[in-house]
Amino acid sequence: CHRISQYSTSTIEEPVKPPVEVNYSKLLIDGQFVDAVSGKTFPTIDPRTGEVIAHVAEGDKEDIDIAVAAARKAFSKGPWPKMIAYDRSNILLRFADLLEKHNDEIAALESWDTGKPFKQSALVEVPMLTRFFRYYAGWADKIQGLTVPVDGSYHCQTLHEPIGVCGQIIPWNFPLLMYGWKVAPALACGNTVVMKTAEQTPLSALYVSNLLLEAGLPPGVLNIVSGHGNGAGAALCLHMDVDKLAFTGSTETGKKVLAASADSNLKAVTLELGGKSPFIVCEDANIDEAVELAHEALFFNMGQCCCAGSRTYVHERVYDEFVEKAKARAQNRVVGDPFRDGTEQGPQIDSAQYEKILYYIRSGIDCGAKLETGGDKIGEKGFYLKPTVFSNVQDDMMIAQDEIFGPVQSILKFKTLDEVIERANATRYGLAAGVFTRSLETANTMMRALRAGTVWINCYDTFDAAIPFGGYKMSGLGREKGVYGLNNYLQVKAVVMPVKNPAWL
Ligand code: NAD
Repeated sequence: CHRISQYSTSTIEEPVKPPVEVNYSKLLIDGQFVDAVSGKTFPTIDPRTGEVIAHVAEGDKEDIDIAVAAARKAFSKGPWPKMIAYDRSNILLRFADLLEKHNDEIAALESWDTGKPFKQSALVEVPMLTRFFRYYAGWADKIQGLTVPVDGSYHCQTLHEPIGVCGQIIPWNFPLLMYGWKVAPALACGNTVVMKTAEQTPLSALYVSNLLLEAGLPPGVLNIVSGHGNGAGAALCLHMDVDKLAFTGSTETGKKVLAASADSNLKAVTLELGGKSPFIVCEDANIDEAVELAHEALFFNMGQCCCAGSRTYVHERVYDEFVEKAKARAQNRVVGDPFRDGTEQGPQIDSAQYEKILYYIRSGIDCGAKLETGGDKIGEKGFYLKPTVFSNVQDDMMIAQDEIFGPVQSILKFKTLDEVIERANATRYGLAAGVFTRSLETANTMMRALRAGTVWINCYDTFDAAIPFGGYKMSGLGREKGVYGLNNYLQVKAVVMPVKNPAWL
């Protein structure tokens, strides 16, 4: 009974010409933009139309080998890890200035390749990327070890050293932010990097990396290999000369990354994976605020966020009011071309994600959830979907269990705090959670009881370069951002030497 939509299919206006050109589509290896060894390219697609934006060099194992060799040379021979940390910091600060200068071109490229609203890229994401680099530039000359008191007449100190060659693999939902989360701390600590970008969104990383060269980054310190997961991605994970691997993407691929480390050289691995985060609205919450935040928690970035508040639990006393308002808000969401003013929601990233989301919508209907609004495609071209809200969702439905990664809000009902804590935690994921309440007592209980790497109280998606981010359970390993993010890129070396005739021990 695939009764998809009770609403008419509307259309999207003609696509606006993006105010930017694609100037970088080759691999960045050892400071040069080069073709892939195979000469192969792959198309990157405009999600607004399904048409090709550009053909991009397709890196594979051979290119990864060359890039890792360049990164190794830059680490062992180059100036980067040995450079005075203040000078390293200044290169990152100069890069941040260039990002600021080219903010709107970068934002346009990002929106073209991903479909996200231009204003979101220009006012939030590129400025945040800039902020990450300034934040970690500030850390570069403040990395210090300890003097450790030990038994006996010994002097013991720790040296905090860069790990070496870092492999980094990023997804398509936030190409530039993921670049910032990974590249900024790695470089601040003196490492060198080989990054594999997502095949759906290779453009912005190449563009900004050229600015990083302009800022004075020595050749080989950062290498960007565009390409596919099972080609370049797998080769990077299996490489015997990569010391550390940082991955963001699906839990399924995260397992492969960890297995590849075990099968090769036991490189250190950090993983930032999927989620199915609860957003809990208590009976004493300010409902209008909660409706708006729950809406943004789910629909932001077309629902393509690992920490999307994708299980909206609402107390039974305020449930009906909440559902009515959530439905009205979703119906008001402006879906359109990312480059038009006022657009809140652009297209989904590609046809595979688009079809996957439609499949989940059908399963919600089939399983008896109530489709309050949406549930259908918009237009014939590109990957636009109507903002969709389901009520009467049960915990065992697929839409309440799996990461949909689309604009589909699932609203569930609860009676007691104990019950909602248990239900919120009954998932293999543990990335984030949101709690809406006016009670300090409730907030205190919930922040401790919820098994998630981030708990937002009366807010959601509040990000800052200094706030650590990562998952409990199958949402990941380790933390990125903040001071915790630095530790991923440092080795601790203990140095011990005897002290003869000490004045004191
Ligand atoms: P994915 O995990 O397959 O891709 C993420 C990155 O990993 C890409 O760069 C990809 O090329 C690379 N990759 C894929 N297979 C690899 C392999 N065997 N070895 C090394 N690298 C590999 O994710 P996807 O297919 O783009 O999306 C699938 C689902 O993942 C989405 O529906 C969503 O649920 C989830 N996802 C989560 C996040 C997140 O931020 N947590 C981001 C994107 C996607």
